[in-house]
Amino acid sequence: MDPNGGKKKLFNKLGKEKAVERLDNEDFNRITVSFYKYIIITDPYQFRDDLFAKWASFSVYGRTYVAQEGINAQISVPEHNWKEFAEDLNQYDVLENIPFKIAVEDNGKSFFKLTIKVRNKIVADGLSIDDYDVTNVGTHLNAREWNNAIDAGATVVDMRNHYESEIGRFEGAICPDVETFKEELPLVKEILDDKKDNPVLLYCTGGIRCEKASAYLKHHGFKDVNQLHGGIIDYVRQLKENPEIENKFVGKNFVFDERRGERISDDIISSCHQCDDACDEHTNCNNVSCNLLFIQCEKCKDKYENCCSFDCVEMSKLTEIERKLLSIENKKKRIFHRHKKVKLN
Ligand SMILES: [Zn+2]
Ligand SMILES: [Zn+2]
Repeated sequence: MDPNGGKKKLFNKLGKEKAVERLDNEDFNRITVSFYKYIIITDPYQFRDDLFAKWASFSVYGRTYVAQEGINAQISVPEHNWKEFAEDLNQYDVLENIPFKIAVEDNGKSFFKLTIKVRNKIVADGLSIDDYDVTNVGTHLNAREWNNAIDAGATVVDMRNHYESEIGRFEGAICPDVETFKEELPLVKEILDDKKDNPVLLYCTGGIRCEKASAYLKHHGFKDVNQLHGGIIDYVRQLKENPEIENKFVGKNFVFDERRGERISDDIISSCHQCDDACDEHTNCNNVSCNLLFIQCEKCKDKYENCCSFDCVEMSKLTEIERKLLSIENKKKRIFHRHKKVKLN
């Protein structure tokens, strides 16, 4: 079982290039799967060591967080080890029958090494344990129930960050202007302060943020808190399986992998950060020491050579050492830009 002869190997020593090469040379398929669960893990370090040894023996790659409040995993499992992997997971009482979300449009090559980290929280939320009760979460709604609740006039809140809701959202949703989930929770409580007795609908990408957000709102006196089961990802899956269900999501669903966003309706609800033309394509600034995530149209891509500003165009042409020196000098400016979301020249 243990490829390291009983010795704990908790990080991957293989260089990135070698690891990518190893992945490319594989002659089998991988299944990309994500799952999370709020559970009590009394000794997260022991739990992590245990999982790491087993998953390494199944050649699992990916990123997983373990905390006293639960587990959050995004991994890829070799197809031929899948059955054994799933059976093994089922042996943990707390993980029994955990709902797997298997990526459909994916070649399984999303990760090239395995990391399992112990964190304070599986989702950074800035809350103390007295702020919520993870066992008292909102009611889970499927796509049909969700649509009905919207039609009945419930308040819809997008629990994602501004750059996610900018390119796609449910019609009429409140989309807080925040960069992190941590900022968002108290803000949402404030925005909804006069709606404590009304039905509230929460949604996010895959459902995990709403587990916490709904527990938090209920703990703070909200009477009728509901959440979209499995998030936008599962909403879309249900729509594909049941074409008679009306789609109420406009634009694209932002995702954190190479694709950046999955188109859900034909509407383009955002605009290029440089020229304001309708556009919902995210890109990272081509100047590696800027790396700003922003929306850029094809025209501006040409004009700015894949950068967010002419400054960055200049900088992207420097050598690595020149760039490093300059970025130390410009540190303040760079952070300022990031907070402004995008720089216009
Ligand atoms: Zn443009
Ligand atoms: Zn830039």
